[in-house]
Amino acid sequence: MAEMTLISATGGALPAVRVNRHWIDGQMTAASDNGLTERVSPAHGVVVSHSARGTAEDAAAAVQAARRAFDDGRWSRLAARERAAVLLRVADLIGDQVNEMALIETLETGKPISQARGEIAGAADLWRHAAALARTVEGDSLNGLGPDILATVLKEPIGVVSIITPWNFPFWILSQKLPFALAAGCTCVVKPSEFTPSTTAMLGALLEKAGLPQGVVNIVLGHGHPVGSTMTTHPMVDMITFTGSTAVGKLISHTAADRLKKVALELGGKNPQVIFPDADLDSAADAVVFGTYFNAGQCCNAGSRIIVHADIAQDFVARLVALTQQVTFGDPLDPATQVGAIVTPEHLARIDASVQAAQAAGARIALGGGLLQVPGLGQQFYRPTIVTDVAPDMAIARDEVFGPVLTVLTFETFEQALSLCNDAEYGLSAGIWSSDVHTCLAFARGVQAGTVWTNTWMDGFPELAFGGVKQSGQGREIGRYGLEEFFEIKSVVMRIGRTRTNWVRPR
Ligand code: NAD
Repeated sequence: MAEMTLISATGGALPAVRVNRHWIDGQMTAASDNGLTERVSPAHGVVVSHSARGTAEDAAAAVQAARRAFDDGRWSRLAARERAAVLLRVADLIGDQVNEMALIETLETGKPISQARGEIAGAADLWRHAAALARTVEGDSLNGLGPDILATVLKEPIGVVSIITPWNFPFWILSQKLPFALAAGCTCVVKPSEFTPSTTAMLGALLEKAGLPQGVVNIVLGHGHPVGSTMTTHPMVDMITFTGSTAVGKLISHTAADRLKKVALELGGKNPQVIFPDADLDSAADAVVFGTYFNAGQCCNAGSRIIVHADIAQDFVARLVALTQQVTFGDPLDPATQVGAIVTPEHLARIDASVQAAQAAGARIALGGGLLQVPGLGQQFYRPTIVTDVAPDMAIARDEVFGPVLTVLTFETFEQALSLCNDAEYGLSAGIWSSDVHTCLAFARGVQAGTVWTNTWMDGFPELAFGGVKQSGQGREIGRYGLEEFFEIKSVVMRIGRTRTNWVRPR
């Protein structure tokens, strides 16, 4: 069998270069200094977008617009059914634009077009679910505190929320946050990654068409500094929700602490999947291959740390190698492609350096390793790579590679497998493959992770909470728990009649 399955360049015409501007207080604007960021397609090597390169002034203007919009109640005091109606219209408008949005997402990220379409269509469903939740918000009433007391606990929108997103699933991750913040009644400032601004910029026009009042959402394009840093330090911001690297997440947490802003963080992962001999090994191998190569491994949920029972390790790795060879790598614009390009040359170099360091530390490269040349396209691709003979303390077994690289560790007992899983700085997700439900449940209870998959991988639903423990983050997104993050809790205590004895006793 060939070492891998390659899809050459389609040779199709690419669309005209897209121009993106900020959307602040309902107006499309250029950067205050007219600066621009250029994005070159990772797979095709051509310019695909020019975007406003935001300044601190632009970011501050966006925060001020969001503050005004929050404080005058144009959104926060609307009836929930009216907010829900806007969110539903946005969902429909996203649905109408799936192809246009997916195309630019593919060109900016390098991901396969079929997966970009799935991401945008799935994001529309997140907006629908947030709309449904908007109408279910309830507080508490306490009627047993004494004959003359009635108390209620109210949920109120937290205020102005800064939303900062990464490049790997630009529109999906935005939609894990923004519609839920809006459902709660918050106003927002949004910054996409400088590498993938277009779908977020496109959303501005859809929000306007859906009838969102001006200033409720403000989109500022540009870099972490100065745009992201202004969004996290500005005194008018009440909460920051960030998805990205653990390093930047920690930085944001430190700066937010100065003003005690609420912070929600979705950060990195190094997610283990444990394979027991009694598992359906065909399904397990397929899911491991999917979990490793989906989005070229540039996925916080990549299941790239495989922990296989020693009795089946050799056979299982052979299955993984054979299956990997059938995965189609190549031109993201071909609907048959399953794995596309790596986001930037710098990130490609980091992936390669991790693999080379593993080899130098004594690990064996069972498949791949090294850059990949796709016929007719650039060199920003990485070979599907399987690394074996890995020791648990090697960097390749502990650090997030964020590329199409699988590491294999082995175990002999359940306790050993669990301890290998938990001997990690991260705790985003974890998986187990076994046909014994008791083994699966014991694992689900014992493993330190925000999501546990048993006999499946990366199955997600808008109804379920998503987030990590340990260095993978704090707070939860999506579903009811995701909505709850955007509330402040207020207790209201009401005395009925003038029954309280005066504190000051007349002399
Ligand atoms: P990154 O941290 O470099 O950038 C993320 C965002 O933060 C970008 O918009 C960037 O411009 C901005 N930023 C950078 N410096 C900033 C600063 N000082 N202040 C404010 N904002 C700043 O991450 P990335 O390279 O875009 O994404 C990859 C990382 O994201 C990986 O570590 C991955 O695991 C993580 N990620 C996590 C999840 C999750 O849900 N847990 C999902 C996707 C990606």
